[in-house]
Amino acid sequence: MLKIKILVADSIAASAVEKLKKEFDVTEHHYSISELIEVIEQYDAVIVRSATNIPQTVIERGIKLKVIGRAGVGVDNIDVEAATNQGIYVVNSPLASTITVAEMAFTFIMALSRKIIDANNETKAGNWPKKHLMGSELFKKTLGFIGCGRIGSEVVKRAQAFGMNCIIYDPYLPQEIFQKMGTEQIMDLDEIFARSDYITIHALLTDETRNMIGDRELSLMKPTAFIINCARGGIINEQALYKALSDEKIAGAGLDVFSEEPAKKNILFGLKNSYVSPHIGASTVEAQIRAGEITAEQVRLVLKGKRPEFCVNLHELDKK
Ligand code: NAD
Repeated sequence: MLKIKILVADSIAASAVEKLKKEFDVTEHHYSISELIEVIEQYDAVIVRSATNIPQTVIERGIKLKVIGRAGVGVDNIDVEAATNQGIYVVNSPLASTITVAEMAFTFIMALSRKIIDANNETKAGNWPKKHLMGSELFKKTLGFIGCGRIGSEVVKRAQAFGMNCIIYDPYLPQEIFQKMGTEQIMDLDEIFARSDYITIHALLTDETRNMIGDRELSLMKPTAFIINCARGGIINEQALYKALSDEKIAGAGLDVFSEEPAKKNILFGLKNSYVSPHIGASTVEAQIRAGEITAEQVRLVLKGKRPEFCVNLHELDKK
């Protein structure tokens, strides 16, 4: 009997590939789009991360394709509509990086509080900068959340362990969640800006959240407050943030995401009170292993005729 064939087009955890190999014929190879168009007809499934795009032109040639796996959360590199039209499941691993990204946000909170990057740079430069590196404690400080789903709620747990008071603006969460988490529900976004010592963003980028933080919102913040964005670039207006930081209207910002990525240049890079990283919020060994294993399992379920747990077009496919 012909074995079911899976193409692993971007490298995923070896443990995930090994598991798939027990039941399927697995090929690990990275192809360019034009090569993929030529070979895709052999495969029942393809697994990618973010390096390989699966556009309509590839999907149309995938006559045996039943499932496309994305080891990670975002499926921007896959034409989901084309897949749905062809009855192909698009599965992913939305929970794989939750803890990792929560820890990244908390890393920024702590690094900014203790000016750790300046401390590192100045100490190594021989300045022994003890006097002007006065930090601040997290204990009893207010941490304001904009959006508090999977990642935000993990940040809440870590903040509470540090004795912080968590206040949350998330109009889409049911009221009982706030009580359950031991947090305060804030209905007016301005209150988050006015009351918080730290603001952390964990909302999705949507038409509603794009540029939701501009000059006016930043002007409501305390001069000692910090803002952290490990969600998506574009939620904070970068020109407005540049102005607030360079005029020292706020104390600092921690940014893992930018309005244009890769961000080789950005006005925020030249500032001393901005701490930045290249969208590495999900980049830990553990998250990558989890993403590979969860996605491989979703692909396995589909190929075995079962219902996947994490599938972005399940409802649309159900309607067909
Ligand atoms: P989630 O869907 O579990 O949570 C998002 C929350 O945002 C929800 O509770 C939703 O109600 C809320 N929300 C939506 N619109 C809002 C609005 N207008 N105002 C306030 N809240 C609003 O998502 P998640 O998995 O927790 O991811 C959160 C963010 O982190 C997303 O933007 C995601 O893209 C980003 N992310 C970043 C990285 C990274 O590498 N830095 C990795 C993974 C996810």
